[in-house]
Amino acid sequence: MRALRVRKPMLTAMLEHATYEAPREACGLLAVTPAGSVRFVYCLSNVDRSPSSYTIDPAEFYGAARHAERHDWEIGGVFHSHPRGTRVPSATDVARAPSPAWLYLVISDDSVGAFEIVAKRSRQLEIEIDD
Ligand SMILES: [Zn+2]
Repeated sequence: MRALRVRKPMLTAMLEHATYEAPREACGLLAVTPAGSVRFVYCLSNVDRSPSSYTIDPAEFYGAARHAERHDWEIGGVFHSHPRGTRVPSATDVARAPSPAWLYLVISDDSVGAFEIVAKRSRQLEIEIDD
């Protein structure tokens, strides 16, 4: 089974971003190694400013991609929060998933779920947290 590895401070950054943005959904991008380790977390703006949807600010998306490229990293995942929902991807999240190679993190109530979304189906992944 594919697993996601993330260092605790990066997980904390995502959770703090979600807390700060609540009751709106928070979102961001992840630089991920081919083996599935999170290298960097980009906490970005949700231009929807909505409790039930997110769209990453396009200029910030581009900036994160440029930053990752300069470090020889790949953007390989996205995270967002469900302030009033569960930590599983919604039907909309699954329908809009941009790449089967990406990892999807969903945050709710101070916990995180990790998924891959292939052929419009989400599958939960294990999360390994390093200190
Ligand atoms: Zn969602």
